[in-house]
This record gives sequence, structure tokens and C-alpha cells, in this order.
Amino acid sequence: MIEGRDALYGAADPAQLAEETYENYRRYVNPALARVMKLSGSPVETRAHGATIWDQNGKAYLDFAGGYGVFTLGHTHPRVVEAVRAQLELIALSGKTMFDPLLGRAAKRLAEIAPGDLQISFWCNSGTEAVEGAIKLARAATGRAKIVATEGAYHGKTLGALSASGRDTFRTPFQPLLAPMEHVPFADLRALDDALHDAAAFIVEPVQGEGGVNVPPIGYLREAKRACERAGALLVADEVQTGLGRCGFRFACERDGVVPDVMTLAKGLSGGVIPVGAFIARAEIWDRAYGKAPLLHTSTFGGNPLACAAAIAAMDVLDEEHLAENARERGVQLLDGARAVAAAYPAVVRDTRGLGLLVGVELKNEGYGGTIIPEMLHQGVTAAWTLNQQRVIRLEPPLIVSEEEVARALAALRAGVAASYEKLGVLP
Ligand code: PMP
Repeated sequence: MIEGRDALYGAADPAQLAEETYENYRRYVNPALARVMKLSGSPVETRAHGATIWDQNGKAYLDFAGGYGVFTLGHTHPRVVEAVRAQLELIALSGKTMFDPLLGRAAKRLAEIAPGDLQISFWCNSGTEAVEGAIKLARAATGRAKIVATEGAYHGKTLGALSASGRDTFRTPFQPLLAPMEHVPFADLRALDDALHDAAAFIVEPVQGEGGVNVPPIGYLREAKRACERAGALLVADEVQTGLGRCGFRFACERDGVVPDVMTLAKGLSGGVIPVGAFIARAEIWDRAYGKAPLLHTSTFGGNPLACAAAIAAMDVLDEEHLAENARERGVQLLDGARAVAAAYPAVVRDTRGLGLLVGVELKNEGYGGTIIPEMLHQGVTAAWTLNQQRVIRLEPPLIVSEEEVARALAALRAGVAASYEKLGVLP
């Protein structure tokens, strides 16, 4: 493996690599983001393996931000890297005019591990594309237009997915968005019942991730499915973040024993090595939408051989390494530990919650986070905000994480919370 000091991408020294990267971000990538990242002390990532990322100075960080849920298998899992490397030698991207054996196998494997009779999948390159595809499928299959979603939801930032997302900050500059669209409070079945009239679909995350790690009561998804059936609407489970072992189940909707009509996936699907997304539907629904119109929904790069090779390997690793089980066990350790930190600092932490290795620490005031996250980074642990709720810090490590690594991350969390309390005292 490349050692820290050799991974400088041709720069003379670590400081030069950091300066060059920051300047490039500031001038050519995203000036406002560059400033925020610099202020919070973000270093430059140069390589990663397992649960660890190394920066330009060779300093190691436990990755508890986890690429917002991408690195279920950890970084650069050897089985997945090898599958992609071998595929690169054969054919990298599909010529599209011929059958691709890997797309066939990846889709078959996904149908085997997906809940119930979910069968036909469309493969794309990101979570938001998977959501776009699910919305289009629901509209075409039902002949209806309205989509019901939940307040605080996050489904992506392309226009259709953004329309279903539930945070005004991200939505307002782009109004009018896709219509008709209705948002109901998360975990509110009565409001759902009322909204579903004449709807094509209800799209919902089994656990709201970016909304601040909101875990609904058991039975919510089951009742939502019944409500959809009564209304003739489809249930779309957005498992982009919760799927593939993250919440201690292969798919989080299994917690309720529910088979959705459509399920969206991305993030962990290809083991964090190649970008990928997919939605999978029951054959009857697919048939209603696209049975006679095979080209209504297509993508040039979607389902490419590299992503499929990675996904096949990643799905095998998920089962063989019992990662959902590990997520469940380590998740209990992480949540218990976070609760202990909360109990020690009640002035700083309002609540802790989670399912499997998707854990949220809700602060009493978002101002504390500005100290906690940089202090955790200083201690060698990454953590991140949730995108729709800035008061919540998420802890979302790879599912391969060990007991000792979770203990180290908890010590960093405690140090971060202590530092923020010392610096800021009691905030309103
Ligand atoms: N759906 C959910 C539930 C997500 O958490 C995310 C990303 N955080 C998305 C969709 C969008 O995925 P992407 O960023 O890959 O477009």
C-alpha cells in the first residue's frame, strides 16, 4: 500500500498539496464551500482503506462520516477493487448495442437479495437519479401525477427528487418545482391517508437520514403500505442511505416486514468503489409502465460494467462478512456510548437516536457543532452534519467497523462535546 508521504500527487510537500487543492477549490470548484471547509480545518484526503482515511501529512482518521453512507464495506475493499480492476481489462463501459452479461447478473443478484417479489431493476449512477426513475415509473404505471413525500425528507437535488425533498433552504431558489407534490409530517399516518387521494406514490425513507436520523415507530411503514394499497398509490422506499446493511437489516424496510412497490438504492450498492444507483420494482408495475415502451427511461452510463462488477462483489461481501449483523451489534455500542456522552453533557446534547450504524446526536444549539466536528477531526475522527437538520451530527461509519474503533470514535465525540461546552458554556 502507498505510504502517506508518497501519496502527495506530485506536490513537493504536504503543505503545498493542501494549498494547491484549496486554491483550486476556491477558484474552480465551489468558492463558498472552499471557505467553509477551510474554516472547519478540513485537510486533504490522499488515500483510504477500511474505516480509515489518511490526509496529506499521513495522519489517520477513522471515517465516521462514512461518505454519508457510501462506505458500507469500508474504503477500497479488496474484493471490489479486484473485480473492477479485472473488468477494466475486458470492457470498461458498455457499447450499448449488445447484451452486457454483468448488468444481467447484477440485476439478478439484486432481485435475489431484495425484499419479496421486487424483481426488475433499472441501474443509474446516483441516488437522485434512482429517485427520478422511481417517480417516473410511479407516474407511468399509475397514470397519476401527484407524489406524496415527508417533511424533512432528503431524496436528492435534481429537480424531481428535490421536489420530493423536504427542506425549503434547498427548494426555494428553484420554485416552481415538480407538481403536484404534497408533504406530510414524517410518521403521521392520518395525514398520509388524507394526502394519498389520487396520488401516484408515497416516497419515504424507512429512517430519515438527512432529516436528522429520525426513526419511526415500528409499524409505520406497514401501515403506510396499507394506506397506499387503499388509495391505489405505490409505496416507494428510498433506501439510498438505509439500504444494504446500514440499519442492521439488508434493507431497513425489513424491520417492518414490508415489501415496497419500488425501492431506490445507491451509496453502498457498489461497495464505495464506483458510483452507482438503482431502483427495483415488482414486475407487474414495471410492465404497466414500460412493458410496451422499452426506451422511455434510459441512461448512457447507467448499469455500466464497472459499476455492475463492483455491485456484484459488494453484494457478496455484504452477506459473506455478515455486515448487517455487525451493523446491529456495533450500532448498539455506538448508540449506548453516544447516550452516555449525552447524559454527561445535558446542556449540549438534546437527544441521541439511530438504527444500526446510522446514529444521530442532536445538539441543543447548532452552534455547538462548529466546535464538536473540528475537535473530533483533531482527535482523528470524521463526523458530519445531516443535510436537512444542522442541529444533528451523524455518526455513520463503515459496517466493518470494530469494537475498538467505535470506542475510539466515542472518546473523540466526548472530547468534542466537552470542548464545545468549555468554549461556549450554556447556549440557549
Ligand atoms: N435519497 C436519500 C435517502 C439520500 O440520503 C440521498 C443522499 N444523501 C439521496 C437520495 C441522493 O443521493 P445522491 O447524492 O447520490 O444523488
